[in-house]
Order: sequence, then structure tokens, then C-alpha cells
Amino acid sequence: MKNKNTPINPKLYYSTVLVVIALMLLGLFAGNPLLHHLGPGYLTHGVLVFFLSICLLIYPLYKSHFFRIIIIVVASTYFYTIFFLYPNTWSNFIFLCFIPAISILFFDKKLFHLSLLLNTFSIIILFSYIAIVDRGELYSYIREDLIGNIINFLGSQAILYFIFYLSYERLKKQKLYYEQIKHSERLKTTGQLAAAMAHEIRNPLTVVKGFLQLYEKENTYNENSKRHFSLMINELSTAEQVISQYLSIAKPDKDTETELVNVKDVLQSVTDLLNTYGLLHDNKIVLSKVEDGYIAASTIELKQLLINIIKNAMEASKVGDSVVVTSECKKDLIEIKVMDCGQGMSKEEMESLGTPFYSLKSRGTGLGMMICYNIAAKYKGTIHFDSVKGKGTTVTIRFPS
Ligand code: ADP
Ligand code: MG
Repeated sequence: MKNKNTPINPKLYYSTVLVVIALMLLGLFAGNPLLHHLGPGYLTHGVLVFFLSICLLIYPLYKSHFFRIIIIVVASTYFYTIFFLYPNTWSNFIFLCFIPAISILFFDKKLFHLSLLLNTFSIIILFSYIAIVDRGELYSYIREDLIGNIINFLGSQAILYFIFYLSYERLKKQKLYYEQIKHSERLKTTGQLAAAMAHEIRNPLTVVKGFLQLYEKENTYNENSKRHFSLMINELSTAEQVISQYLSIAKPDKDTETELVNVKDVLQSVTDLLNTYGLLHDNKIVLSKVEDGYIAASTIELKQLLINIIKNAMEASKVGDSVVVTSECKKDLIEIKVMDCGQGMSKEEMESLGTPFYSLKSRGTGLGMMICYNIAAKYKGTIHFDSVKGKGTTVTIRFPS
């Protein structure tokens, strides 16, 4: 995670730091037992307060990993020093437990793990010192219940660990979410631009195609030229088709109305339409076991989805094969299945479905499945592919009823 990019609110930071510095100064001057016989101990305390204050004050200017390590080292030295200088202030022990919390503020995973490890190690040494050397002379409150203190220390580290992980995960998720929003905004803008462009390109294409169709019918041209015209018209039709399909994805859905659509009726009309298309390769659509069922969607879009999927199944089928379509009402959803015994798809091919312009057909646009997924998502439906290469494909479409 890039910590450098997380801006600190300067007002909040400096007011917090000033409070911390004021408390450290208060500890140095107010009722300090060492104040009466000044010595190297008190001097060390003063120097550490000074250094820690400077580090905290200039941190916003040098927000580097290295500087964070320096702050943690100085702060740890400070807390351990006051623990040793003021053995009667038992609450200093609490600060030792919470040293790893400093790196939580920096949201630095590596630093947190390192300081958790080093601090545990230091506490082990400290407790060994108290048990073996001090023997409860100065730190009787720790020595008298050593096990209890060790358990408390471990407990505090576990709490810190949970706090760190929970907030770290949440921050990571938020960051991801933010990235996604930014990405979709960018996509939306490019989508709008592309749609505007596609629209502009379609008009001249239509004009050129119209003239070619005229010339094709005239007798002044020889057969060879006419063949070229027909080739050009075909290519222009493909381009037109790509643009129309693209525009149907990009255009806002204001002209589609949601209504209660009877699946049986829609399947019947789609079958009637596509059976003519099937004559080309002697493919038939068999409607078996089609139940009445209602979906809240737009009739046009539902038809568009089914036409795309059934047409794909027909195009994948061998000459003379049939495509079987079923529809069933289950609990709270309607399940439509389109089954073919055609060429099937490999796992990789299935993963590419829905990617714009992915097509294995010489005249395919590769936009059909993308449109289908978009329509399904719009009405809270799903499309699932089961396919075996060379054996056939079953497409399962589910919509809430
Ligand atoms: P297009 O039909 O224009 O090629 P689609 O998005 O509709 O674009 O389909 C993308 C690709 O998915 C097709 O080119 C085809 O290779 C594959 N495909 C889709 N449905 C099937 C199917 N039922 N069986 C085999 N392949 C399929
Ligand atoms: Mg298709």
C-alpha cells in the first residue's frame, strides 16, 4: 500500500502532536522526583523528549519509511528509559505494551510486524532482568505476579494485532473501491466518446452502401465489377452491424420499459424468427417443455438476449442438428436452457465470452455475448455456460420470476 499518498490533515496532526509534546514536558517538569538531584538520568530524559518532539514535528516533511523507523526507535527508547528512570510509576509499563501501536498510525504492515516482534523480544529480556537481577527490589509490582503480567502483555499484543488487521483490511478495501470508481468513471467517458464517434461513422457508411447497392443493379457495369460491389456491400454491412451492436450497449436505457414478459411467448416469437435463419444449414429449434413464466424486463431486450444466444448455438451446430430450448419455473426464478451439440468451447474460450470483439467466426462481431451479459445484469439475471469442446454447449439463463 502506498502510504505516501495518504495525506495527513495538518491541523489535526499538529494539534495532536502539540498535546503529546505538552504531556512529555509536563512529565519532565511537574512533580518529577529526579528534579531535586539532577543527574545523567534526568538529562537523558530531557534529551529524548527533545528528539522525539523534533521527530514528530518534522515528520510531515519527510514521510519516508526510514523516518518512520527513526520515530519508532526514538519513541521506544523514550518509553524504556522512563520505565527504568521512574520504577515507582508502574503505569509506564502500559506504554511498553503499546509501542507497536505507533506503527498502526503509519499503516505500515512491515513496520508493525517488526515492532511487534522486537518489542516482544525486549519485554522477554526486561522480564528476565526483573526476575533474575532485580528480584522485585524496584519492580515488585511485576515480580510478584510475573505470569499474570506476561499474560496481560500477550493479551495487549493480541488486541493490537486485531486492531491493526481490521483497520488495515478496511482501508485496503476502501482503496480498492475508490480505484474501481475511478476506473468506471474513465470507462464511462471513453464509452460516451466512442458512442458519439460510432454514430458519426454510421451515417456516411449508410450513404456509401446505398450508392453501391444502386450501382450493383445498373447494367453499365460488368460482372466482375458487380462482384466487387457486392463484396464492398457485405463488408459495409458488417461494419454497420458492429456499430449498431456497439451503440445498443453504449446508449442509455431510457427507451426500454420494464414490463411483465411471458417467457413462453417470447421464446415462441424468437423461434419463429430464427427458424428461417436455420434453413440455411438445416438447423431447427426445438421448444421442449416450455412453461409459462413471467419476468420483469423489457420485451425487446429479452428477445435480443435470446436471439443472440440461440443464434450462437445454431452457428456452432453441424448441418442438420437441432438446438433444444427449455424453460422451467423454479421456486423464485425462471430457468431457460439453450442446448446444442455443436463445436463446443474450451475453458479458455469460455472465459473470453463477453469480452468485447472476442469472436471465432469469420463474420462475427464479438459483441453479442457482451450485450447478453449487460441485459442479464440489468434485470438481475445470470448466464452460465457449460461446454465440452467438440461435444456441445448448454447455456443456462436464470431470471428472478
Ligand atoms: P459473435 O457471435 O459475433 O462471434 P458472440 O459474443 O455472440 O459474438 O460470441 C462470441 C464467441 O463465443 C463466438 O464467436 C463463438 O466462438 C463462441 N460461442 C458463443 N456461443 C457458443 C456456442 N453455443 N457454442 C460454441 N461457441 C460459442
Ligand atoms: Mg453471436
